[in-house]
Amino acid sequence: MSEPLLRIENLQKSYGDEEVLHDISFEMEESDAFVLIGPSGSGKSTLLRCVNRLTEPDGGDIYLDGTRTSDPEYDVNHLRREVGMVFQDINLFAHLTALENITLGLKKVAGMDESSAEARARAELEQVGLADQADSYPAELSGGQQQRVGIARALAMDPKLMLFDEPTSSLDPELTGEVVEVMRQLAEEGMTMLVVTHEMGFARSAATQMLFLEDGSLVEQGPPEQLFDAPEEERTGQFLKRIT
Ligand code: ADP
Ligand code: MG
Repeated sequence: MSEPLLRIENLQKSYGDEEVLHDISFEMEESDAFVLIGPSGSGKSTLLRCVNRLTEPDGGDIYLDGTRTSDPEYDVNHLRREVGMVFQDINLFAHLTALENITLGLKKVAGMDESSAEARARAELEQVGLADQADSYPAELSGGQQQRVGIARALAMDPKLMLFDEPTSSLDPELTGEVVEVMRQLAEEGMTMLVVTHEMGFARSAATQMLFLEDGSLVEQGPPEQLFDAPEEERTGQFLKRIT
């Protein structure tokens, strides 16, 4: 058996005296698309942030492709290239075009020369359906287009794993569809992804597994049909009834 792409073992995180993640364990195989759900404050963002070490875990281990990335010695910059992240807040540089927002990291972080960086950036813009907006500044783009540039920027690093933290939550409802569509396409193409979202249509159709987190504990994990149609835990059903 080969190693899972992501293995989380007994992950714990506290802020001060309060433990906000209790003994979280799960594994993702390559090409898995996991959707993480749970009430506000349940620890979803903290869990994602531990995976790329924007937050340092207090206990447990995280392995990416068999390498223990939670090791304090592990190079965090390397990890951030292997794990792409897209946040709710769209954080493009306002003074750079869509293309430049993507080439910046390729040149500075990945050490690419200008022309290779530009070629890669154009290919990623094409992937998210924005080939014709390469020279637009963020202010000239809709929120949905900006978020797609953010996704293209993360993809440009050729990550092994993509993390999405409520990528559509700051968008007007009519703009969520185009971002969800990009995620759906990525999932179909076999990108390994861990997604926090309230888009239950996406979860049902694209998730290989769903995780329900409540008060920092992993309450239930299973395929979408299980969580939606026959949850094993009463709390899962109650939560899904509230949000759907
Ligand atoms: P979710 O993303 O599910 O809404 P979070 O991971 O953001 O949940 O938060 C989980 C818990 O940790 C909450 O109780 C929140 O108040 C707390 N928390 C999150 N970030 C911090 C922080 N930087 N300092 C202190 N407490 C935090
Ligand atoms: Mg959150």
